[in-house]
Amino acid sequence: MKVKTKLYLGFGFILIILLVLASYMLFTLNQQHKFMEEIVQENYERVKLVNSLKSDTQVTGREIRELLLLDNKAEIEKKIPEILALREQASATIDSLLLVPSLNPETREILISLRSYNQSYSDYIDSIINEVSNGTTESARQLLIDDSTNIRQIIITEIDDFTAHEEELMNQSLQESEQAYEVALSALTIIIIVSIALVLVVSVSVVKSISTSINKVRQVMTKVSNIKDGNFPRVEVNSKDEIGEIGLAYNEMATSLETSFKHEKELKESLQDENWIKTKHTELAIEFQGIQDLEEFGQQFLSKVSPLVQASYSAFYVTNGSGTMNRVAAYAGNGEELPQVKFDIGEGLVGQCAKDKKILSFDTLPSNYIVTKSGLGQANPTTLLLLPIEFEGDIYGVLEIAKFEPFTPIEHRLLQQVCETSGSSIDRILDHMRIEELLSESQTLTEELQTQSEELQQQQEELRLINEQLHEQYKQSDDKTKELQRIKEDLEEKNRGIKLSSKYKSEFLANMSHELRTPLNSMLILSQMLAQNTDGNLSEKQIEHAHTIYSSGTDLLNLINDILDLSKIESGKFEVYPEEVLLNDIEAFVKRQFLPVSRHKGVYFSIDVHSDAPSILFTDDQRLKQILKNLLSNAFKFTNEGGVTLRISKGLDNDSRSKIKFTVIDTGIGIANDKLESIFEAFYQSDGTTSRKYGGTGLGLSICKDLASRLGGFIEVESTEGQGSSFTLHLPDFEGLPGLTSSDIEVAVSEEIAVEEEVEKEVEDENVVAEETKEESKHLLENKVVLVVDDDMRNVFALTTALESQKMDVLFAENGKEAIHMLENNTSIDIVLMDIMMPEMNGFDAMREIRKKEEFEQLPIIALTAKAMKTDKEKCINAGASDYISKPVNIEQLVSLIKVWLYNEGERHC
Ligand code: ADP
Repeated sequence: MKVKTKLYLGFGFILIILLVLASYMLFTLNQQHKFMEEIVQENYERVKLVNSLKSDTQVTGREIRELLLLDNKAEIEKKIPEILALREQASATIDSLLLVPSLNPETREILISLRSYNQSYSDYIDSIINEVSNGTTESARQLLIDDSTNIRQIIITEIDDFTAHEEELMNQSLQESEQAYEVALSALTIIIIVSIALVLVVSVSVVKSISTSINKVRQVMTKVSNIKDGNFPRVEVNSKDEIGEIGLAYNEMATSLETSFKHEKELKESLQDENWIKTKHTELAIEFQGIQDLEEFGQQFLSKVSPLVQASYSAFYVTNGSGTMNRVAAYAGNGEELPQVKFDIGEGLVGQCAKDKKILSFDTLPSNYIVTKSGLGQANPTTLLLLPIEFEGDIYGVLEIAKFEPFTPIEHRLLQQVCETSGSSIDRILDHMRIEELLSESQTLTEELQTQSEELQQQQEELRLINEQLHEQYKQSDDKTKELQRIKEDLEEKNRGIKLSSKYKSEFLANMSHELRTPLNSMLILSQMLAQNTDGNLSEKQIEHAHTIYSSGTDLLNLINDILDLSKIESGKFEVYPEEVLLNDIEAFVKRQFLPVSRHKGVYFSIDVHSDAPSILFTDDQRLKQILKNLLSNAFKFTNEGGVTLRISKGLDNDSRSKIKFTVIDTGIGIANDKLESIFEAFYQSDGTTSRKYGGTGLGLSICKDLASRLGGFIEVESTEGQGSSFTLHLPDFEGLPGLTSSDIEVAVSEEIAVEEEVEKEVEDENVVAEETKEESKHLLENKVVLVVDDDMRNVFALTTALESQKMDVLFAENGKEAIHMLENNTSIDIVLMDIMMPEMNGFDAMREIRKKEEFEQLPIIALTAKAMKTDKEKCINAGASDYISKPVNIEQLVSLIKVWLYNEGERHC
């Protein structure tokens, strides 16, 4: 049973005894109390009632007597009820006594007899009162004297008896109660004694059982501190209580203590072993440290290690790097016992151990395997061990060792560890040997180097000298470079100057040619008019002179145009306006231009268009025409017999610059081979003499070449002197201007071209018509008013003369402002000729102003542009010009144009 349960049971038992005891005492006390109260209450009540009856009875006697003594009737009558009331009270007292419960029979008997006596006495009193009431007081007195004392006395006696009886009863009860009390007391005493005894027994037994168990455990535990052998005593566990559990726990603890004690002992032993191994190992390592020779190492190794493991025989093998193990040392052996000194890897046990890199162990060697001898005797070792010696995974050697008894584990481990570290020692020795070898080699090399170094020093000295010479040369060349740099800068400066002057030259030429054209204009107009001899008053000679003036002027104009072009190209102001050019148009243009020339010169002109030639080309139409015109002009110029052919065909396949070829072939004078190159230079002429036969400036081809290259193509020439020449123009499609597509340009330019060409054609057509109907149309312009706006008086004069010859009325204004003023004041003006370059207000502004006014919306204005540049024409039309004509003005053309505008105005504006 558990200690807890024992304690609960022990204390529970004591508690129960105490409860029983207390209950019993309470019960007894209660009984006693009840009993006492019964006695006191009942007896006291009864004695009190009886005493009141006694007193009533005695008072009644006294009152009766007083009544009989009274004479006053009123007083009598007052007394009677009092007496009757006393009587009634006496009867009631007896009745209530009888009603008291638990009356014993004796008492009840006494009370019944008392009631009958009391009744008799009441009757007797009633009879006296009756007598008194009746007024017979004497008879009443008699009655009193006769009897009354007797009955009343009986009653008093009876009451005294009752009282005595009651007292007796009370004493009796008290005695009983006392007895009961004593009984209870003795019972209680016994119970208490028994309880104490029981409690004692229980306590002692519980305490004893607990302390016995504890003692047992304590005794065992006390012994533990003195135990040294690791054998701990165990507690004998009989009970299954907590102390038993402590015992069991202690036993378990003792077991684990024993185990750890054992472990500690083993650890200590192994530590000692380890320590021994480590010490020996360290000692050996220190011993081997300084050894630099393999044989010495082997010998030292065996003579130190073998005694440590009590080996009777050992040998040390080292690899030589080419797969063979050489024995370098032996212990306690001789030539006979150790027959073999060399093993290949894998050969015999030594070779196998090296191959496997594993320890080989043999415990029961046959008796004839090895013999160990001493002076006193000889015996066979029984155990053989082969250990590999490795370093970083490579085998360096093998230790073979034998012993009479088996190797102990410690010896085994020592050998293993020593072999493990010996690898590094061997490696170190081998390294050392290699270093020694290298050192001696390097010494040899150093000596060689020394010799070479001396040679080198010598060479260095030579080199230094060369270097100094080079340095000197370098300095000189540097000076020259600097000088060259200076010259280069000078040249650049000069070049800049040349460029600038060339620019000035070009600008000057451009300006000059422009300035030359203006006076030329009037000259041409007037000479043309003279040649026409409208008045018919000039001689043949004079007419011829006029013609000569006109043709010279035309030549001069062409020259000026060429100079202008050249200067424009040089000054970079040259611009290309590409468009889609139809081959048919080119053909027509060429025919128009040169058929008359061929007819005039009496040579043939043929145009030969190949079927493979592209029909459309994207290029600058005007420039293309200019080049062809030039080439054909030259061809006709230098051809007097035979003729000229223009051949148009597909370009070169392998050259992107050649989509189409225009070849001008003539049968003229040809060009000498050595001059073929130079004809393209500006101002060059192959016949450079003053007496030359053919006219020209020497600019044409130079311009053509430049133009061709600007258009992306080039010109080739072939010629045989005296037989003819062939000039070929190669052209590609012009590479589009950035930002503009070819179709944009096409739309913008072709519209203008269409108008231009249309005008040209019409003018031509009309020229023809005009020729035919010259006479008819002679008067068409008669009295028409024309306003000439020009600041150059020579021009005004020339134009006026020409127009007046057509019977026109000519007005003139010096600038735009004046023109507007005149237009406003003179409503009869039919047509305006507007120059562009004027002071105060130029032609563009003037035209814009005029067009702003409603009445002049339909007024024909013909602009006179300096040169037929496309931009100028465009600008003129945009500013409000109806048409334009380029200077120098061809009078016939101008007249035709005026006629067109005056008579076909309505149609034009549609
Ligand atoms: P020019 O105005 O003098 O003709 P060009 O530059 O056009 O100037 O020509 C330069 C020179 O090349 C000419 O003077 C002429 O000697 C020579 N030349 C040009 N074209 C021909 C040709 N078709 N036949 C012979 N010689 C030519």
